[in-house]
Amino acid sequence: MLSRDELLVQLNCRGILRENGHFALHSGYHSPAYFDKGVILHDPCLASEAAHLMAVDVMNRIGGREVVILGPPTSGTVFACYVAAAWASLAHGYGCHFAYGEKGPEGTIVFSDQNQACLYGADVVVIEDVLTMGSSVRRLIGHLQHLGSKVIAVGAICNRGGVTAESLGAPSLCSLFDVPLQIYEARECPQSVLGVPIDLTFGHGRQFVKRHRGKLDIP
Ligand SMILES: [Zn+2]
Repeated sequence: MLSRDELLVQLNCRGILRENGHFALHSGYHSPAYFDKGVILHDPCLASEAAHLMAVDVMNRIGGREVVILGPPTSGTVFACYVAAAWASLAHGYGCHFAYGEKGPEGTIVFSDQNQACLYGADVVVIEDVLTMGSSVRRLIGHLQHLGSKVIAVGAICNRGGVTAESLGAPSLCSLFDVPLQIYEARECPQSVLGVPIDLTFGHGRQFVKRHRGKLDIP
């Protein structure tokens, strides 16, 4: 397996961090930089390496115990699946299960009966891909409490918003990348104010343009 530094070198060579652009994020915010999680998620070898490092990191924080690994839909679930496989290979003598939610109406997450049964009474490790404001993970943690689960750690490929464990309401937060990046409300984004076109290749630029037809009501 690769060390963290070796993995970072490979990811940087592949352009995982794109700077000096104008990107729309899933959260609706704009940023001059974009963390391209697809560099990891579209390469099973790199995803396995990153998941191994994540599993080791979280295990070192929480110690040996039986856990359920859970990822928010949809790309969070993809990476969480890799982490669960890495965890299972490392957790000698401890059980590891995997659960997943599905997108419900208005940004909610719903769990099938089978997934709820897996989560009930469990110590849960939530694995996300990119944390920007952390709001979706915060909502997920609240939801899991209602399901009778206890979130003991959160892991993310990238913490790009300076999110803390305290702000999530989780005992522990691990991230492979900590790259605080500037984000702006779309209407206050300096590049939007100047009329710089949004990037349509990376991020959620196409959805943004479709939603706003390329125009923002900028004061
Ligand atoms: Zn903008």
